[in-house]
Amino acid sequence: MKDKGLLLVVSGPSGAGKGTICDALRHKFPQIRYSVSMTTRPPREGERDGINYFFADNAHFKELIKEDAFLEYADVYGHYYGTPKKYVFDRLEAGNHVMLEIDIQGAMQVREKYAEGVFIFIVPPSLDVLSKRLHKRHTDTEEVIAGRLAKASAELEWISRYDYVIVNDDLDAAINKAVAVISAEECKSWRNENLIASIKKMYEIK
Ligand code: 5GP
Repeated sequence: MKDKGLLLVVSGPSGAGKGTICDALRHKFPQIRYSVSMTTRPPREGERDGINYFFADNAHFKELIKEDAFLEYADVYGHYYGTPKKYVFDRLEAGNHVMLEIDIQGAMQVREKYAEGVFIFIVPPSLDVLSKRLHKRHTDTEEVIAGRLAKASAELEWISRYDYVIVNDDLDAAINKAVAVISAEECKSWRNENLIASIKKMYEIK
C-alpha cells in the first residue's frame, strides 16, 4: 500500500511569484495534483472555469459552506475563495501530493485541521519589487494594487506560523529551495510507514 501524499500549502502575497514556483514544482513532481479552488470573484481575461478556478455565485458558495464541503474558505478582497475537501483527501489517500495555493486565513484553517501538511510561505524580496510585478501584470486597477500591497505588509506577520519561508529574489534559486523542501518532507520516516514495513519484510525474507 502506498503511503499518503503530502498536502503542500503555499501562501504569499499576490505577485510574490507563487504561481510560477508552483507551476515549476508540478513539472518536477508529476505526482502533485493541483486543487482547483472555488471563488465568487469574476474570471480574469483568459481564466477558465474548472481550470483556474471553479467560478460560483454567492448563493452556491454559501450552500456548499453549509454542506461542509470546504477544507477551508476565506473572504479575500471581498470575494469568497475555498478549497473543495473531497478532492484533496481522495488524492492524498491515493498517494498523490496535493498543492493548495491559498491565502493565510485559509492556510491557518488547514493547519488546525491537518497539521501534517507542509506549510510554505513565498516572500517577494521587497515591497518595491512586489509593486513593480503587480503593475506589470496589467490585470488589476491602481486601487486593487494598493490594497494588495497593504495586505502584503500585514501578511508578513504570519511568516513564522509556516514551516518554510522562501524569498523569491532569484526564481531558479527559489524553485530549487522548494524542491529541496518537498524532497526532504517525502523522506521523513514518519510519513513512510508502509514503505518501512515493506523494506523490513524484504530484509527478513533474505
Ligand atoms: P487571485 O484573485 O489573485 O486569483 O487570488 C487572490 C488570493 O486568494 C491569493 O492570495 C490566493 O492565494 C487566494 N486564494 C486562492 N484560492 C484560495 C482558496 O481556495 N482559499 C483561500 N483561503 N485563498 C485562496
